[in-house]
Amino acid sequence: MKVFKFGGASVKDPNAVTNVGSILSLYAGQKIIVVVSAMGKTTNKLEEILHSIQLQDRSVFDQQIAELSAFHHAIMDELFREKSHPIFQKVAAIIEEINGLYSKNKSEKPGHLYDQIVSFGELLSSHIVNDFLVELGTKSCWLDARKMIRTDDRYQEANVDWEKSKELIQQEVNRAFLQSDILLTQGFIGHTADGSTTTLGREGSDYTAGIFAYCCEAENVTIWKDVPGMLNADPKYFPNTQKLDKISFNEAIELSYYGASVIHPKTIKPLQNKNIPLFVKSFIEPLSKGTEIQAQRNSDELIPSFIVKKGQILLSITPKDFSFINEENLQNIFQLLAKENIKLNLMQNSALSFSILVDANKIELDQLLLELKKEFDVKYNDHLELVTIRHYNAATIEAMCQGKLVIIEQKTRSTVRFVLKDAT
Ligand code: ASP
Ligand code: MG
Repeated sequence: MKVFKFGGASVKDPNAVTNVGSILSLYAGQKIIVVVSAMGKTTNKLEEILHSIQLQDRSVFDQQIAELSAFHHAIMDELFREKSHPIFQKVAAIIEEINGLYSKNKSEKPGHLYDQIVSFGELLSSHIVNDFLVELGTKSCWLDARKMIRTDDRYQEANVDWEKSKELIQQEVNRAFLQSDILLTQGFIGHTADGSTTTLGREGSDYTAGIFAYCCEAENVTIWKDVPGMLNADPKYFPNTQKLDKISFNEAIELSYYGASVIHPKTIKPLQNKNIPLFVKSFIEPLSKGTEIQAQRNSDELIPSFIVKKGQILLSITPKDFSFINEENLQNIFQLLAKENIKLNLMQNSALSFSILVDANKIELDQLLLELKKEFDVKYNDHLELVTIRHYNAATIEAMCQGKLVIIEQKTRSTVRFVLKDAT
């Protein structure tokens, strides 16, 4: 049994959904669990809808619901010739459910309402894709991920209960495979023990594929993308990217940790634990080889990889009293950062100051400064970029740092990281 994951871009319009059907026909007769994301940018749209609910802005809300509905209808109109097809009813019922949430803006826990609303993107998408596959004559069966993936109630970033999920998933999957070849389900969503819907964090559908593969001991997982595989750099910034043909689980984890955005970072661990290979392949050229992520480490060093994060801000934190940066000061700083939910991209300390690099757009700078300045002096430097090179050499370093001011440099045997500023 295999697990396939199709992201938002691979189901963003009628042609894309038709293409999913063609890819699956290449695997006719095989048992496959197919995980789909919300169509195109639907998750962002649902976040905007949530925002209108919070503001209780009825006219904007109505407008957004109309757009959400029109977007999905345009896709269905192309895919289903028969206008009496039950999919139109199903989609209308889901849109009606979202509509009904306008008055439910007083949810119990933070993030609860977010998860109830944003999860509908995957529900819409999975129903449409599944019914389309059935129309094509595929033996495909729709399964509800909310009944299989059990999580805690940390809304928006729920933690998986592996034991319970394994039990629920195996039960559903084994039963459904008796009748069907394809089991089509939603990425990104799960449920708590008392039945509330949860989400696994933005871009979490890859992780769902990893969870299903782990729980069912799949033969392999394929993530179908609009790129030929994992590349050694982001084509947005680099004209000559190279595909990584084969890398290890460890390398893939390192790359996603440093910010390569191809695969959701949590996806790989469960696969590594069960030694299940992961393929990243192009849905445009499904017969090409793509990237294989597996246990062997001997190809990791063949191609250097580059990860660039722009929009960085470096905060330098110094104790106000006459103390140095010691364990106690660090403990206070970390406590505060954890409380403010700040994610560190890099850190460095000297005797007198502790420096942290964060994404400028992910922090409330004023709030953070206010908190830190109770005990520390804080200086900051913004408009920086963080460049990470895996398997670097002198030439790659030279190419990346040319014309830039190096603010921080950190080197290990396999990785070098630079905080850079434009030298103007
Ligand atoms: N639809 C969700 C998102 O856009 C999950 C995913 O696509 O992986 O974040
Ligand atoms: Mg996505």
